[in-house]
Amino acid sequence: MTTSPCNENPVAQQVARIQAEILETCAACGRDPSTVRLMAVTKTVEPERVNQAIAAGVRLLGENKAQELLAKYEAYHKDQVEIHFIGHLQTNKVRQIVDKVTMIQSLDSVHLAAEIDKQCAKLGKVMDCLVEVNVGSELTKSGVEPQRLVDFLGEVSQFSQLRVRGLMAIPPVCEDELEAERYFSDLHKLFVDIGGEKIDNINMDLLSMGMSGDYRMAIKHGSNIVRIGTAMFGHRNYANQ
Ligand SMILES: *Cc1c(COP(=O)(O)O)cnc(C)c1O
Repeated sequence: MTTSPCNENPVAQQVARIQAEILETCAACGRDPSTVRLMAVTKTVEPERVNQAIAAGVRLLGENKAQELLAKYEAYHKDQVEIHFIGHLQTNKVRQIVDKVTMIQSLDSVHLAAEIDKQCAKLGKVMDCLVEVNVGSELTKSGVEPQRLVDFLGEVSQFSQLRVRGLMAIPPVCEDELEAERYFSDLHKLFVDIGGEKIDNINMDLLSMGMSGDYRMAIKHGSNIVRIGTAMFGHRNYANQ
């Protein structure tokens, strides 16, 4: 056989390129690259191509929809892989996913926290969670408003089966680089300030921000998890769903 690895695994080249960019960005801003995890965001991507990303070294998958996760779960090569839920999660779907994911990054209501707590109690599991912050206070987006965050954390700290580990955000789409950068620096400041409040049962050690178009900037502002879809798998074909 003379086929090159790239022909067998077209996703590997993109994964290698993104990993190199992460290393370069960390070097440029003096960060330890082991503090930045690369997540492959799998929405609309066939399991075969997700497995190519895994074969190329990706160790973290991000899932947006319970139904899509259930449909693809068995086909994933999961041995060395963690799965995080990153999409808006309806309470009636929690039961279906709690045994399949190690983190829910999209905690956005006390109601949802209560259901995660209830379902995890049945499994004897403590779920790591990130609170999704609506950093641009956009009406169309879910997430907790920054000014409500401390109260919200106080409310969810009562749930013994949840362990809040930090924040996740999808900042507004900005034409202007400086404006985009301000959202990341605001998020980092919020993350540090909240960490300083030392709320019982709440940890602030993970900041999940940065996607295909802006992950380098997010790393410069302290991101610990970059969530990459398009730059790894190409444009999404929603007809696949
Ligand atoms: C789709 C999605 C991403 C990845 O977006 P790309 O721009 O394709 O990298 C990241 N985070 C969340 C929550 C998403 O829904």
